[in-house]
Amino acid sequence: MAGKLLELKDVSKAFGAHKVLDRISFGVSAGEIVGLLGPNGSGKSTALNVISGFLPSDGGEIRLQGDNITNVSAQRITGHGLVRTFQLPSMPHRMTVREVLQAGASGNASLASMLKPFRFDDELDELLESFRLTHVADLPASALSGGQKKLLSVATALRSKPKLLCLDEPTAGVHPNLRSDMVTILKRYRDKGVAILVVEHDMLFIRELCSRCVVLDRGEIIADCAPRELEDNARVVEAYLGK
Ligand code: ADP
Ligand code: MG
Repeated sequence: MAGKLLELKDVSKAFGAHKVLDRISFGVSAGEIVGLLGPNGSGKSTALNVISGFLPSDGGEIRLQGDNITNVSAQRITGHGLVRTFQLPSMPHRMTVREVLQAGASGNASLASMLKPFRFDDELDELLESFRLTHVADLPASALSGGQKKLLSVATALRSKPKLLCLDEPTAGVHPNLRSDMVTILKRYRDKGVAILVVEHDMLFIRELCSRCVVLDRGEIIADCAPRELEDNARVVEAYLGK
């Protein structure tokens, strides 16, 4: 298991009798962008929840930079450099977009970070600009559109300088023009060595962004290959692409 930033080995998760993840194994290297694909209900969000410590696994092992993070708390996993976004981001009511970004990863808006005196912050302004949120920076984050909330949650996750960024459907509801901007931004972070594991249905986005795809279906990994190889994989076409 050496060399990978993230390594899953035989990870399982069931809800009652429903085995959502049945001994799945895959890895993500530093500076690699991996797509996690599969039909609705195939366990993609569950996998991200288990990896990031938001749900306990039933078995198997998860390692981050060689450290065993299996069933470690989400907060401690974030401390190890794994930051994730949610399929449906929720935003604090009383904070502006700028304040959310200033506070760092969502859920980490500690009192200390909020009490920090305002300082001129180039990176923050750059992130607002790249994600086209400058014009709404002083509005309450809860007032943003669904797509803008997604953009803010990705920007906020990047702000906390992750080693591994896990994104759950980052472009759902996001304007098509902004999707290609997001590809450019995420590749820039990849080039700095950040690893990204991204759940996404938009195959154009996946092809532009990912060097590898892991496809889930009925609890199993049915493919782990380059995006261009997916169309030649009969199981993937049947379970996912061929709809
Ligand atoms: P995906 O993200 O691939 O669409 P999910 O991981 O959200 O799929 O869900 C996989 C399956 O697990 C679905 O059948 C879903 O209903 C079930 N599931 C997810 N979370 C829970 C939960 N907390 N309790 C019970 N069943 C769940
Ligand atoms: Mg999901």
